[in-house]
Amino acid sequence: LPRLEADGLSFSYPDGTAALHEVSLRVAPGEIAAVLGRSGAGKSTLMRCLAGLHPPTRGEVRHDGQPYAGLRGRARRARAERIGLVFQEFQLVERATVLSNVLIGRLVYQPLLPSLLHLVRRADREIAVAAAARLGLGELLRKRVDALSGGQRQRVAIARAMAQQPDVLLADEPVANLDPVLAAGVVGDIVELVRAESLTAVLNLHDVALARRTADRLVGMRAGRVLFDLPAADVTDDH
Ligand code: ADP
Ligand code: ADP
Repeated sequence: LPRLEADGLSFSYPDGTAALHEVSLRVAPGEIAAVLGRSGAGKSTLMRCLAGLHPPTRGEVRHDGQPYAGLRGRARRARAERIGLVFQEFQLVERATVLSNVLIGRLVYQPLLPSLLHLVRRADREIAVAAAARLGLGELLRKRVDALSGGQRQRVAIARAMAQQPDVLLADEPVANLDPVLAAGVVGDIVELVRAESLTAVLNLHDVALARRTADRLVGMRAGRVLFDLPAADVTDDH
């Protein structure tokens, strides 16, 4: 059974832009797939559908065989909790500390009253601290996010997703704004974590060389369609 499955996905934005046409994708447990393609190819739209943020116009997304559509309330939260997201915009709380931001990964799916947020469970705090430490943020836990470098902020976003202890990690251009050396380091960290935890990952990457070095499978997109879907070793420069 694939861990994550997109079946005949089409998606059009409200203004009529058809961003995905009949996209199908299966990612096995423990597999890392990199999605490649020029700007506008539909990578982010696909990612948002896989994340359950965009209901597709046609087709279906399934996690462990279970369709996203029709889930409500607790069942939808439980599904969302299994899927860690790292998006381009990071969506960090700028004025909060590194630790608070990573803790959000633990708390976001718990229906806590805001007035009780200070009563964070010790177990949640320990998991968040461990996730931050694994990404080299151990010394920065009390530092505010708005005082961090780009690479550090990116690591906070990854730590937050990992603190959720998901079984799927989705990352949309996780290193788009970093210089190539830093980018390779951050992607290396993601891959190491994904392998260590046996997660399933889909990464949108525009750096083809980096994708070939790090992913098991490469999925090439153009104009909203899947152009190729191959083991990384089989992808040549002609693709
Ligand atoms: P990529 O991530 O590969 O750059 P996107 O998924 O962002 O591609 O975009 C796919 C297509 O959908 C493009 O034609 C883009 O212009 C269009 N698009 C993206 N977001 C929106 C939106 N919010 N409204 C309308 N069209 C959009
Ligand atoms: P509601 O309108 O009651 O919030 P919907 O099921 O229409 O419920 O959509 C809410 C969210 O559920 C969407 O934002 C999307 O994340 C997810 N969703 C719904 N249908 C699908 C689907 N077929 N595939 C993937 N995600 C879906």
